[in-house]
Amino acid sequence: YCAATKTFHSLRAPFPMPPPDRPLSFPAFAFSLLPRPLPATRPALIDAATGESVPFPAFLSRVRALAAALRARLGVSPGDVAFVLAPAGVHVPVLYYALMSVGAVVSPANPALTAREVSHLLALSSPSVAFAVKATEGKLPPGLNTVLLDSPAFLSCFLHDEDEDTKVIVQQSDPAAILYSSGTTGRAKAVVLTHRNLMASNSTRAAATEEVLMLPLPLFHIYAFTFCLRVATSAHTVVLHTARRFDARAVLAAVARFGVTRLALAPPAMLAIVRAAEEDETVVSAVAATRLQSVSFGGAPTAPELLTRFSRKFPGVSLVQGYGLTETTSGFCRVAGEEESARTGSVGRLSWGAEAKIVHPETGLALPPGVPGELWVRGPFVMKGYLGEKDSTSAILDSEGWLKTGDLCYIDKDGIIFVVDRLKELIKYKGYQVPPAELESLLQTHPDIDEAAVVPYPDDQAGELPVAFIVRYSGSYLHEAHIKEFVAKQVVHYKRIHHVFFVNSIPKNAAGKILRKDLAKI
Ligand code: AMP
Repeated sequence: YCAATKTFHSLRAPFPMPPPDRPLSFPAFAFSLLPRPLPATRPALIDAATGESVPFPAFLSRVRALAAALRARLGVSPGDVAFVLAPAGVHVPVLYYALMSVGAVVSPANPALTAREVSHLLALSSPSVAFAVKATEGKLPPGLNTVLLDSPAFLSCFLHDEDEDTKVIVQQSDPAAILYSSGTTGRAKAVVLTHRNLMASNSTRAAATEEVLMLPLPLFHIYAFTFCLRVATSAHTVVLHTARRFDARAVLAAVARFGVTRLALAPPAMLAIVRAAEEDETVVSAVAATRLQSVSFGGAPTAPELLTRFSRKFPGVSLVQGYGLTETTSGFCRVAGEEESARTGSVGRLSWGAEAKIVHPETGLALPPGVPGELWVRGPFVMKGYLGEKDSTSAILDSEGWLKTGDLCYIDKDGIIFVVDRLKELIKYKGYQVPPAELESLLQTHPDIDEAAVVPYPDDQAGELPVAFIVRYSGSYLHEAHIKEFVAKQVVHYKRIHHVFFVNSIPKNAAGKILRKDLAKI
């Protein structure tokens, strides 16, 4: 901590990042980190449901062949945005790497979104090509050039002559990925992440040990998006869980079957595993017989009490909390060693290249260690900005490069970071983003609704549930079930409204901003 600038700095050893001006794509950087010769038989990717496994040499040759085919057959050019609407599977990380290696911009979205929600994202990122599966194809407009990952045409790309010239010049500052996030306020926006952002976000990688990393997580969200890229940056074997629903026993069976050493989870999945272990002692002994060493968790707050319950059942498994945002290319803190993980609830220290300030949310003044305030961060992992939205970008990212996280945090005198609460509007249902502004504008399209406000309601299972406060037009008999159904028909399952409270007015400040914290207290 530097008292003069009131800034916290990372003391971690520098990570070997390339000089910023050197043209280099993220995939070229990642592949340069792979051990040579490539591990011939170790799997790079495994599909936990089918057992299909792709060894490292096949992973690399698939990426190269697909990259060549993207250019030659599909005419994908540098800078083109490629929308991906597909469930997790071994083809997905291959596709991500292939697209980025030809300078295209990967833009993954949740395959469960409704066509209406998808069209909003397409309007933000204007893709020139899409990758889908038969089940999601119908959500894309007919005019968009779409390739199905479950079609013979896609699979034949892996046979493409990989020697064809795919060399394109990619600058580290070029966009590599566009993910979607509502940030601190408003509706979903297109977060532009550069090749260098992705390099920096992998600066937290552990020395290449032969980790087997299982991701029962969606690959379109920043958490698993960056984790699955470790197949190259850290030579991890990445096990993808492709089942639709999280099933604790099925996941633990896969941990045993594939020799998983590290499991990355969202908080509700941790709860499901703890419950399974509390109900049945054989789950505990089964896990003890596996190679599982650590569980990474994050994406939303986790109750410290859940961590205690987890450690009681699985004392041999270390818990590593991750904290970050889509706008920071995932985690920029890192828990390392016993001392930090012993501080229950901490998210570790700043990772390499990161600076942080804790700022009083009202006065804007930087605060000393130990005092909670809004966390601002700066570093090579901070997004380029929101695509086409100057005002939204400057509202979250100032001219000196500080990104305002919208989270209430404190950093103790040892530099260890704790997340206390969320200041921004965002609701997190099982780690999924639910932007209240999106639901509010949808509710306001109902002819009987005068005003609407959506806020989080605490829930053991989901973390938070979206609930609505509604002002009806006088004379309206609109009831709760009708409103819930009106929303449910138009949104993905996790954005559904769980309770409706009818009120006479919505509390607002002088500027007309909804006073959400006041509503949450009602
Ligand atoms: P997203 O962009 O979807 O990753 O959402 C980022 C937000 O999720 C953060 O700003 C936090 O509000 C919340 N979040 C992520 N990880 C954690 C964590 N470990 N503890 C508490 N909140 C978290």
